[in-house]
Amino acid sequence: MKLISSAAEIADLSKKWHKDDLSVGLVPTMGWFHEGHLSLMRAGRSSSDRLVVSLFVNPIQFGPGEDLDSYPRDLERDRKMAESIGVDVLYAPRAEVMYPHGFQTLVRLTKLSLGLCGGSRPGHFDGVCTVVSKLFNQVRPDCAFFGEKDFQQLAVIRRMVFDLDMGVEIVACPIVREESGLALSSRNVNLKDEERESSLCLIRAIRYAKKRLVDSKQKIAAEELIDDLENQIRTTAGCTVDYVKIVDSDSLQDKDIVDDSSRLIMAVKINDRLRLIDNSSLI
Ligand code: AMP
Repeated sequence: MKLISSAAEIADLSKKWHKDDLSVGLVPTMGWFHEGHLSLMRAGRSSSDRLVVSLFVNPIQFGPGEDLDSYPRDLERDRKMAESIGVDVLYAPRAEVMYPHGFQTLVRLTKLSLGLCGGSRPGHFDGVCTVVSKLFNQVRPDCAFFGEKDFQQLAVIRRMVFDLDMGVEIVACPIVREESGLALSSRNVNLKDEERESSLCLIRAIRYAKKRLVDSKQKIAAEELIDDLENQIRTTAGCTVDYVKIVDSDSLQDKDIVDDSSRLIMAVKINDRLRLIDNSSLI
């Protein structure tokens, strides 16, 4: 596996691969790999001739006071893990390569980026879309792999690719969870033991909502279910609700009635310092 930090070098290599008629897959990440990242890499490995994994903790998608400084980083650890999957290139550009002096362009969606995580983290998806656009321009992938863990991000990227005719196939990969049901996240490493226990309120909410849907003989009003879920989260030690929503899986618009096309999507704060997200279909 090659470790590349230069944008020109990865662009040249990708050009050469395309000339040789090889398909190129890209897995964009911020590093501190776990099984969730590895599942994306495995999907990429099995469907692309050449696989690039990018590793870049993107400063412009973090707001003031967010966890940019405490975000876990260990290039050597990540290098070994990516190599074990058979990744061809780990592309780890420095911030000066991505955002050279004078950088002033942003890619912004006018609707899908505003609610949910975009509501709590203004400008977050502008940062995500800008860096993903740059990665697509540098790596020129045929396919790019994203996790359903970041469900809104996936919808935003799909929209951006369609709206801007980027011609990259976006492949969605299912959420990988710990045995406890907690969705894997690089941020979990910062959870203390009792916070880890509290974080299970997310999977409990998902299980409760699914059971309500199975048990109910009548239609369930989304508002009523959301009230129940918010109360359960609020009564978990250290947990506050950022948002709990039941939305249409495609448009991410609020649903009135819970049905098969609904997605439960949530963000909670643990002890006011760590923000965790989770989501699930309800069928
Ligand atoms: P990150 O490094 O957190 O920016 O994540 C990089 C990619 O991995 C994104 O497409 C995420 O949605 C995906 N990802 C993160 N955690 C998981 C998980 N538990 N299961 C599946 N995909 C994940």
